[in-house]
Amino acid sequence: MWRSIRVKLVAVYLLLILFSLQVIGAYFVRSLNTSLMRNETQTVKAQAQLIASMAAPEITKAAKDPQGFSSVLASMPQLINGSAYILNPQGVVLDTSVGRALIGQKRVDSVVTETTVSKQPATAIRVDPITNQYLLEVAVPITDQGRFQGVVEYDVPVQGIYTTIHQVTTIFYTASLVALLLTAALSVILAQTIARPVVEVTRQARHMAAGDFTRRVAVNSNDEFGELSTAINDLAEKLAEALAENARERDRLQAVITYMGEGVVVLDANRETVFVNDAAHRLLTNPEDQAQTVADLLGVRNHAGSDSTEGTFVRAIGDNLMHVHLTPMRQHGQVDGYVALIRDVTEQEKLNQARRDFVSNVSHELRTPLTSIKSYLEVLLDNQDADAKTQREFLGVIERETDRMVRLTQDLLHLSGLDSRQTPIRWSDIGVSDWLTSAVDRFQLQAASLGVKLEVQGKTDAVIRGDRDMLDRVLDNLLGNALKYTASGGRITLSAIPHSTVVKVVVADTGMGIPAEDLPHVFERFFRVDKARSRRRGGSGLGLALVREITELHSGRVRISSDLNVGTTVTVELPRRGVSH
Ligand code: ADP
Repeated sequence: MWRSIRVKLVAVYLLLILFSLQVIGAYFVRSLNTSLMRNETQTVKAQAQLIASMAAPEITKAAKDPQGFSSVLASMPQLINGSAYILNPQGVVLDTSVGRALIGQKRVDSVVTETTVSKQPATAIRVDPITNQYLLEVAVPITDQGRFQGVVEYDVPVQGIYTTIHQVTTIFYTASLVALLLTAALSVILAQTIARPVVEVTRQARHMAAGDFTRRVAVNSNDEFGELSTAINDLAEKLAEALAENARERDRLQAVITYMGEGVVVLDANRETVFVNDAAHRLLTNPEDQAQTVADLLGVRNHAGSDSTEGTFVRAIGDNLMHVHLTPMRQHGQVDGYVALIRDVTEQEKLNQARRDFVSNVSHELRTPLTSIKSYLEVLLDNQDADAKTQREFLGVIERETDRMVRLTQDLLHLSGLDSRQTPIRWSDIGVSDWLTSAVDRFQLQAASLGVKLEVQGKTDAVIRGDRDMLDRVLDNLLGNALKYTASGGRITLSAIPHSTVVKVVVADTGMGIPAEDLPHVFERFFRVDKARSRRRGGSGLGLALVREITELHSGRVRISSDLNVGTTVTVELPRRGVSH
């Protein structure tokens, strides 16, 4: 309660007033007392001196004739206000205004003694023990022609003066009390007026600290308090604006970080997860181990533990590869947390790997025939006198290998043309039956020579749209494969099954088949079930890849099914002309 500014103000006012009144009161009472007493003393002293001057000749007379003293005091009873005594130098009462019984007695009042000794007037104030009233005692010496003859003692009651002073003092203090009460009331009102704006501003500051910037302080004056209220209102407004702007910025940033394509993870100094954005959630879901922490998944613990500097590394999470860029956040030179940027590089890595594989495959595919051509050429050059049959044999091998290289490079060129969409497509209507028959015709001789039965089954009037050369290449590859991998005595059938929107072209053989585990890979470039066998038969591993590319270019799809040592069936499904799909 004492901390309240109102109480302090009231207390200060009251103490000030009280102190002032005390000082004024003390000074006033003292001055009044002094002034009244001085006047009274002078009057009494003057009367005493008058008595002394009248008594002097009587005492001188009495010294010569003891009976000659006649009462001076008795002659002036109207003058005497108190009790007057005329004393001889020994202090014995010669005359008194208070009854003759005291004559002849010795008086020993201090003022009398003082005057007797000093021969000077003396005054004193004492309380009369009988009446209990204040008395002013005055003693003056009686001298006659310079000789000390005795003392006049004059005692006057001054109770009236004291009563007056007491009354005045009482009035003064009563008035002071009233003034004090009025001041108290006024100071309470004043303190309220001064303290109200302060209290309101304080309340406003508290609301602001609690985050409420909507309130405003009422500005009731244009003094310093008014300015304070206006300033705090301005402050509230500016702060609200700044905070709102801040919040907007934060939301924007949060939205950007949350929805950005790259994963963002923030870890604290103990590598506990603080923030994970949506992308990071997706990327870091490891189906095998849900219990792993984000830091463990990213391998931050080890990395940061050994070296708290920036780092980039690739981590396998589940089946995917993640590129992680880890940056430590520093504050005052201390590592305070980590920000990890995560990017899924699985596809990129696959592409890179495919490119590497492709280059190595191409090099390998070219090196084999080239090595063989080179060695045959060396033999021919070293044995120029070899017989013509051997030479032809060797040249035949060289020709076959060269053909293989030509086929390989042609297939590669076709594939790259299809990949880059640079091969122009010459669209035309193609009758399916005609397409199949002409393909079978092209292989009939070869089939017969290999002892394999090759035939078209059924007839259809279905028509498709496509590039005839490309589609011929599809059937050439499929029939070529069927012939390559079907032993003598086998059978290859080519059939077309029209559906409402598509035509299914099926090439089925009774050949060696493909192991189930290799089946998903046969459409990959350079994939061969048995490299030696395929190469021996002139395969490059690109045939089925080409088939798939061309089919897909025609908005179709290709499937393969096979049983080992039973046979293989390849189905090419192509949209029929003029049928929307
Ligand atoms: P290749 O030029 O080696 O024949 P392909 O891409 O045409 O390459 O075929 C890929 C692999 O699939 C072949 O190496 C072969 O092992 C297997 N394959 C394709 N067609 C048949 C089939 N009709 N019978 C058995 N295996 C086949």
